[in-house]
Amino acid sequence: MSSASFAVFSLYAILVLIGLYAGSLTTRVIFRLSLPKGSRRGPSFCPNCGKHLRATDQIPIISYILLRGRCRRCGQRISPMYPATELFGAFMVTFVSWYFGFSLHGYIVCLASLLLYALAVIDLKCMRLPDVLTGSLAVLGVLDIFVISTPDPLSRAAGAACALILLGVRFLTRGGIGIGDVKLTAAAGILLGYDNTLAALGFAVLTGAVAAAVYKFNGVKKMPFGPWLCAGIFAAALYGEELTSLYLNFIRFVAY
Ligand SMILES: [Zn+2]
Repeated sequence: MSSASFAVFSLYAILVLIGLYAGSLTTRVIFRLSLPKGSRRGPSFCPNCGKHLRATDQIPIISYILLRGRCRRCGQRISPMYPATELFGAFMVTFVSWYFGFSLHGYIVCLASLLLYALAVIDLKCMRLPDVLTGSLAVLGVLDIFVISTPDPLSRAAGAACALILLGVRFLTRGGIGIGDVKLTAAAGILLGYDNTLAALGFAVLTGAVAAAVYKFNGVKKMPFGPWLCAGIFAAALYGEELTSLYLNFIRFVAY
């Protein structure tokens, strides 16, 4: 191995480690925010036996493999969501570093993707989108204004205003859309700008419609919209232009 390729290999190995820890932190955020208020502080514990976890039981991936996916004390199975989220963190940090080439904007998108992941999982589990996470997404959007010139501030403001579309739908459907979804769209709008926010909403509506059909088929009446919105925001942050041209081509195809 030449010294240049060894340097690149070492760099990506460090990124994977950082990503695994970022993913591990995401699992803790999801776990804490899924608990009732008042029981979210203190050291990490097993949800089954309530015993505190040792530091050595919280090493990403490695602890899960060494413990064979079970709690050291009570033997209860640990959800595979934990290692999956850690791997997602590792993937995101390395992918974004490659996609955006070690830029501050890239790392803002990376942090945003972890927030979106946490929001999607919590909405699926608890049917709510915690304000602390949507608020953090809005802060990332504001930071992004100082890091990259496109979208311009006016487009970002218009993006946030796209939340009014969801507010209108919420009013018309008498609460069919949660207020958390409205806040999430406003926060994402600052990061994405108005054109990519519309692309995100289009993606959310299309995938959400498919999911709603699956939910209905399985006899489940209430479906969270947040996960599809999160997926749309994530897709638009990376491939907004491609999504928009895909929609336009589709509309042209249907119209002629
Ligand atoms: Zn336990």
